[in-house]
Amino acid sequence: MQRRKTHTVKIGKVRVGSDAPVVVQSMTNTDTADVASTIQQVAALATAGSELVRVTVNNDEAAKAVPAIVEGLDKLGIDVPIVGDFHYNGHQLLKKYPECARALAKYRINPGNVSIGRKDDDNFRTMIECAVENQKPVRIGVNWGSLDQALLTRMMDENSKLSNPLPARDVMMEAMCRSALDSAAAAEQYGLRSDQIIISGKVSGVLDLIDVYQMLAARCEYPLHLGLTEAGMGMKGIVASTAGLAPLLLQGIGDTIRVSLTPKPGGDRTEEVLTAQQILQSLGIRSFTPQVTACPGCGRTTSTFFQELAQQIQDYLRESMPVWRAQYPGVEELKLAVMGCVVNGPGESKHANIGISLPGTFEEPKAPVYVDGRLLTTLRGDTIVSDFQKILDDYVKNRYGSSQSEAELVEVH
Ligand code: SF4
Repeated sequence: MQRRKTHTVKIGKVRVGSDAPVVVQSMTNTDTADVASTIQQVAALATAGSELVRVTVNNDEAAKAVPAIVEGLDKLGIDVPIVGDFHYNGHQLLKKYPECARALAKYRINPGNVSIGRKDDDNFRTMIECAVENQKPVRIGVNWGSLDQALLTRMMDENSKLSNPLPARDVMMEAMCRSALDSAAAAEQYGLRSDQIIISGKVSGVLDLIDVYQMLAARCEYPLHLGLTEAGMGMKGIVASTAGLAPLLLQGIGDTIRVSLTPKPGGDRTEEVLTAQQILQSLGIRSFTPQVTACPGCGRTTSTFFQELAQQIQDYLRESMPVWRAQYPGVEELKLAVMGCVVNGPGESKHANIGISLPGTFEEPKAPVYVDGRLLTTLRGDTIVSDFQKILDDYVKNRYGSSQSEAELVEVH
């Protein structure tokens, strides 16, 4: 799949755009002024794989906390660029707290909330000048919930005078694009380079998202930050985000993504990172963690044993990945199959690096294991799980360890 050609924007150590991998990012939901909690959550998001983390900078306390957060993360050895999310008072905060302006790796500016274009207000210009002074890239993040009302009203008025007025929705989509592109042009006029600008046009409807990003992609070479605003909770948020992002990513549109899931009370914020990674991995765009293909189960298997094994293996992979990633480069490409019976089990197993077919109902209690398409062994008895885990460990070590050859697979039994 051909990625859309864009400028490449550097955000600290991370590159966004053109041939750089599609970057996964996330946002904290802690009070930024609470330094300890924010450090803890940023660390968790970064450890889960978030390559950029955004924090809101909404008041004096938050702006004062930013340098301490960046320093605290540094002491923990967490090297993730921190992006500041600014709205109505960003111009004041960036001016009043220069250490905050320096500590952040990027600023997010919502043109709808900084009165761009108004004669009596140059907040946007002040923020861009801060970015230029500190050589920080900026995301111009338009959001339909806070779209520049002066621009929208003007465009609606102009539309109403046409002999064939466009539907209001089309005018809104055009206003989103116009707001983003006009703001980017203004930012360049105020001294920001084109390779220091990323843009986004967030909406909460899937079809609107696809339309607005296709329009943006056709009209500029700025990298695009994709994401639904307020995707929602749980399954709804995951499905809506996937439905919106997948068609765009498959067209090569999108250089960094965020999945804005609403966590359940007390829920795990890192879910949004894992979802974003899974979207990219399912589309074959990037690999983050070994994939387990598990059959859905049916009447041929009345036990939940294979579901439990699939879950145990998935958990084991997730726990092992922080170490494996460093020790065994390429292990994220590994494919496993855990199947419920021998009907489709061996066939599916042959397509995976390692596959196991557990015994279905009335089948002989044995579990054939295939490695790289060949039957390696047949497991039996109460130790199937631990035996399979050992095969997995040995395979990873031999296949992805630096000094071993691919052929050195350790036989068990
Ligand atoms: S592999 Fe077997 S148990 Fe799983 S869905 Fe297919 S027939 Fe059913």
